[in-house]
Parts: sequence; C-alpha cells; structure tokens
Amino acid sequence: MHKRKLNIKRFITVISVFIIVVILLIIVFMNNNKSNIAKNSPSPTITATAAPSVTATPVPSSTESPSVTPSPIPEETAKPDDNLVIRTDYENFLPNEAGEIPIIMFHRFIEAYEENTEKEYTTTFAEFEALLQTLYDAGYRLISMEDFIDCNIKVPAGTMPMVFSFDDGTPGQFNLIEEGGSLKVNPKSAAGIMMAFNEKHPDFGLKGIFYVNMNIGENTFEGAGTLSERFEMLQSLGFELGNHTWGHVNFTKPENNSAQRIQESLGRNQEKADEVLPGLRFYSLALPYGSLPDKSLYKYLESGSYDGIEYRNETIMAVGAEPAVPSISKKYNNQYVRRIRAQGRVAVNGDLTWWLPRMTSNRMFISDGDPTTIVVPEEKKDTIDIEKLKGKSLITY
Ligand SMILES: [Zn+2]
Repeated sequence: MHKRKLNIKRFITVISVFIIVVILLIIVFMNNNKSNIAKNSPSPTITATAAPSVTATPVPSSTESPSVTPSPIPEETAKPDDNLVIRTDYENFLPNEAGEIPIIMFHRFIEAYEENTEKEYTTTFAEFEALLQTLYDAGYRLISMEDFIDCNIKVPAGTMPMVFSFDDGTPGQFNLIEEGGSLKVNPKSAAGIMMAFNEKHPDFGLKGIFYVNMNIGENTFEGAGTLSERFEMLQSLGFELGNHTWGHVNFTKPENNSAQRIQESLGRNQEKADEVLPGLRFYSLALPYGSLPDKSLYKYLESGSYDGIEYRNETIMAVGAEPAVPSISKKYNNQYVRRIRAQGRVAVNGDLTWWLPRMTSNRMFISDGDPTTIVVPEEKKDTIDIEKLKGKSLITY
C-alpha cells in the first residue's frame, strides 16, 4: 500500500516536470518566432561565404519564395572564392542578372593634352584615375573577359560588373620600368594607376584585356623589359591578352574580305603570340575599327587556321556603342559583342560619359554575388537562354 502511494507520488512528480518542460518549450518556440519576424525586416543581410554550394537553396527574407530552375547541362561550376559577398534577400536589393554589362574600350593614355593631341581616343592619366573613382562610387566592379564569356560573375552582391578593354598595345596602357635592377609596372600607366587604386579599393578588381597586334613587335607596351617579360607581367597581375589581328586589318576592305586573309591575320597573330610567350592562347578578338567582313565569313573570325596554327575566339568585340548583354541572354551574339568607348579629350555622343547617366539600375546587370546562380526578377526570366546556363541555377523572385 505504501509502495503504491509512493508510485502515485512519483507519477504526479513526473507529470508535473513534463508539463513544466512543455510550457518552457512553448515559450522558447514563441520567442524564436518573434526573432525570426524581426529578421524579416528590410535591413539587408550580407553573407560572406567561402564555398558557394552548387545547388542554390536560397533563404530569402521576403515572404515569397523564389523558384530555382536547375540548368539542364551540369558542367564544372565556379571555383570557390574567399572574397564572395553573397545576398539572398533579393527583394531588398533587386538583383538582375539578365541586365547589361558595359565593356569599356580604351586606346591611348598620356600625361597631358597638347595642342595637336587626337581628340576622341586619348585620355590623361589624371582623368583615368578620376574615372576609376567615379565608376567605383557608382557601383561598378571589374570582371575579366573570361568571366564575361562564362557569365561567371563574382562581384559583390548589389554591384554591377564591368569589363575594361584596351586596344593597340600602346605604352600608356601598360609599360615596365627598371628600378633597382628589377622590372616593375610604370605607375604612370593605366595598369599602374589601376594597381594603385586597388590598393585603396581591393574590391574594385584588377581586371582588363589588352588586344594586341603582334606585327609591331617590341613596340607593344614599349618600355623596359622584353615583350615576353611584359606579357608575363600582365598575366601575373591577372590581366588578359586578346587578338587584335596581325597588321590592324580592316575587314571591310575588299582585299581583306576573304577566308584566307581573315585566317592569316588572326592565325599569324596567334602564332607570334605563342612564340613570344609559349602557351599563350587568345580567346577573344577585337575587330580593328569594328570592321566586319561579309556575313558568310564571320565563322573565320571565330575559328580557323593559318600555317598549321589553329585559333579560336569566344568573343568578337565591336567598337560601338552600347552596353553588352550577358552571355546567358537569348539576345547574346558572341560574333558581335558591343563596347562603349571611354571618353577622349572631348566628349562625344555614345561614349562612356554619355552612357553613365543612362545606365540606370533597371537595365544593368546587378549581381547577387554568387557566380553559381543567375538571379532575375520573374518578368525577365524569358530573356535567359537556359541552354547557356551550363550548370548554373536560374533563380527568379
Ligand atoms: Zn585598334
């Protein structure tokens, strides 16, 4: 009898403890919910992640859940990057990875204008330096041509990718000087100015592609060092080299408008580049003067061979005169990728100065920070070519 009483007492104690635990759990759960609601407030959440996952499972702070469409061709995905700044609260910063990407075209840089300085393709070092600040403050971040081609966009969430391109291999773009017995980049060159700017703003990016004409030999990036040392230095800094033809060929001229001449001017340039820096392969061509041959010959701009040397250009760059569409767009045409020329000594319609106020946030590419995902507003979904996603996830919101 006594034992039974004890058992009942123990039973009541157990039940009481159980009820208290349940009540405590309910209180904890309700508090958690409250803080979750607080997290959904419009303050942006910035998440830096070292390893982006292949299949994106976004946790948006908005109530609508974005839809994820995996692309049909799973291929290699972007390498993890320590500096990625990824956000998934799309409603708060409106990423648009269907938007346009400006590719800027530079030619000559000098210390100061003189009376007879050419007006449209020459910029001073001081103006270039000021331009970098303007672009940085406006939210542009540099990407490489290679990443443009692959739409492998690694700029921080909320910023806009931009490509710098330099034609003709002029020394103001980049040259070497000798100091204390070693070669260094001339700080009075576009590349040198970009390096100094990146010391202050490492997130701007030290990227750009230099389109060269191998026929001018050591006059390319004229200065100290050999041509191969100059190319090596450029590449070691993360810059790229592109094909600008052997002889700066104008393809609209009848004598150049043939399969043979196109292959010669591109293949020979490739052959010489490989001689100067073994293994150097061009993957992008800038058309001199933006000149195109007959349409039936476009395929030779993309690939061909000369003297047993094969070449292949993933992008063929025009001269004018608007921002480019990304390579995942249905409108993308790799045989004629548009560029915007930098402002020269005088401003002209269609140059970068003219374009800057017109490149409004509703039309430009605004990154989510994650190179493995393509995030677009629902209404822009149809502008994306699913076949071109190559393993990236399409996310709409
Ligand atoms: Zn040129």
